[in-house]
Amino acid sequence: MTMREHHSLAIIGAGLGGLTLARILQNHGVDAVIFERDASRDVRSQGGSLDMHVEAGQRALKDAGLEAQFRRIARPEGQGLRIVDKAGTPYWNEIGALDAFDRPEVDRGALRDLLIDSLEPGRLRWGNTLTHIEPAERGHRLHFGSGKSITAGVVIGADGAWSRVRPLLTPATPLYTGISFIEIGIPDAESNHPEVARMVGHGSFMALCDDKGLLAQCNGDGRIRVYVALRMPENGLEASGIPFERPADARQALLAYFTDWAPELTALIHACDDSFMARPINMLPIGLTWEGQPTTTLIGDAAHLMSPFAGAGANLAMWDAAELASELLATPRPSQAIRAYEAKLFTRAKEAAEESARNLELCISPNGAERLAKQMAIYGAAQ
Ligand SMILES: Cc1cc2nc3c(=O)[nH]c(=O)nc-3n(C[C@H](O)[C@H](O)[C@H](O)COP(=O)(O)OP(=O)(O)OC[C@H]3O[C@@H](n4cnc5c(N)ncnc54)[C@H](O)[C@@H]3O)c2cc1C
Repeated sequence: MTMREHHSLAIIGAGLGGLTLARILQNHGVDAVIFERDASRDVRSQGGSLDMHVEAGQRALKDAGLEAQFRRIARPEGQGLRIVDKAGTPYWNEIGALDAFDRPEVDRGALRDLLIDSLEPGRLRWGNTLTHIEPAERGHRLHFGSGKSITAGVVIGADGAWSRVRPLLTPATPLYTGISFIEIGIPDAESNHPEVARMVGHGSFMALCDDKGLLAQCNGDGRIRVYVALRMPENGLEASGIPFERPADARQALLAYFTDWAPELTALIHACDDSFMARPINMLPIGLTWEGQPTTTLIGDAAHLMSPFAGAGANLAMWDAAELASELLATPRPSQAIRAYEAKLFTRAKEAAEESARNLELCISPNGAERLAKQMAIYGAAQ
């Protein structure tokens, strides 16, 4: 007779949220396993750099026992921020202090690797795409694309924007924000384009004007990652006809959106290599809540996808993980833990989603640089 596979707790998705949750629960001996769609850690590029906030991402890393390791891969100098308009006129210039650790940057891939490497063998099951879940005698039966199924007492959806766990709790699905990003990049910028590297600096650089933006950030490997932000209707990128499969033409098509921008700014597009990635920016309804279920909940983007304009998504995912873990560890009754976790989650997520929506509107506006600089001054005064 073959043993049926059962776990006390199954986490769907090995993003920063799911990995943090698994790591903390592992440290307390909980039978928690992650099922991840990707076949291995390297199948997808993990994107750019994130800043880890003290009360959110950094707090979660502390709970996970990974604070010292995190400090070794973090880049405090990346905390700088420059904001300019389309003429290159500066509105904000903040240099990242090497000794400050309130919001250090870290490459997402390095952070994800740190969390993956902190898990015991067998905790993370690659190549398992959840297709659907049904009630079972011992909680839930989870079905995967391979045809395999397992049972789990508690299921946590950490499976991002298009979560397959979310429908158990709410019919809500992501909505388009009206903004699309085209991600481009400049490899080894210091050597290949020193003037561009100097302009961007070690932190974040934002050129904002005329309902558009060029958002650049220096990553740990020397690549400058640039998000070209454009306001356009849903599916506007397909309709735009930008020929992403022909990089030289795609570059020219992007430049056509910025004909009256200063040459030092459009150099960010001229200098980019041949990798283009279209990223329509979506969000879940602000203030989304659901009726609690005793053995299922969501963390991270699955619960509160929002635009990146509050720089909060990854931080919230890790914060959710730390809070849910602490509630689960405090009581043998998952229903009680989930109720306590969700009460705080809904408030936290609503505040961040409102901020993200506000920031999107002010950044991608006719005078985005001026408005964001004013907002930064208000943030600074509030600290
Ligand atoms: C352009 C951009 C810039 C950003 N910048 C920042 C920033 O500076 N700071 C910040 O805090 N946040 C930022 N964010 C937001 C941040 O990236 C996300 O909020 C964060 O990654 C969410 O983590 P997560 O673990 O909830 O989900 P994800 O990272 O999306 O992970 C979900 C995982 O679930 C897996 N999965 C999905 N479906 C299934 C399935 N059916 N079965 C099994 N596995 C599945 C996926 O493969 C994935 O590994 C940015 C986002 C974007 C788009």
